[in-house]
Amino acid sequence: MGVMAGMSACIGCRTVFMYDPDRVPSIPIDPATGLPPDLNPDGTTRQPDPQAVARMTREPVCPRCCRAANIVRRLNSLPLFPEHDTLDELTDDQRPLPG
Ligand SMILES: [Zn+2]
Repeated sequence: MGVMAGMSACIGCRTVFMYDPDRVPSIPIDPATGLPPDLNPDGTTRQPDPQAVARMTREPVCPRCCRAANIVRRLNSLPLFPEHDTLDELTDDQRPLPG
């Protein structure tokens, strides 16, 4: 039995990658700004606008960007993102068929 595989651009580096949609690390993004609802364009944080929260979508983050983010998160004692390929967790009969 197969599972659905997702494939889209990473929100961090725009590299297209495949992932398990149920397990891929993701971050909330306001489509109007392309940023998380609590982030200003200059990188400072703010209280999220309720309208931005209402329209936000979760966007996948690739393993390479998770590893890069974890360097800073480790220094700040924050919870780490998973750094592995989510498709690696699947058994052969769960992997999406090529093509
Ligand atoms: Zn990335």
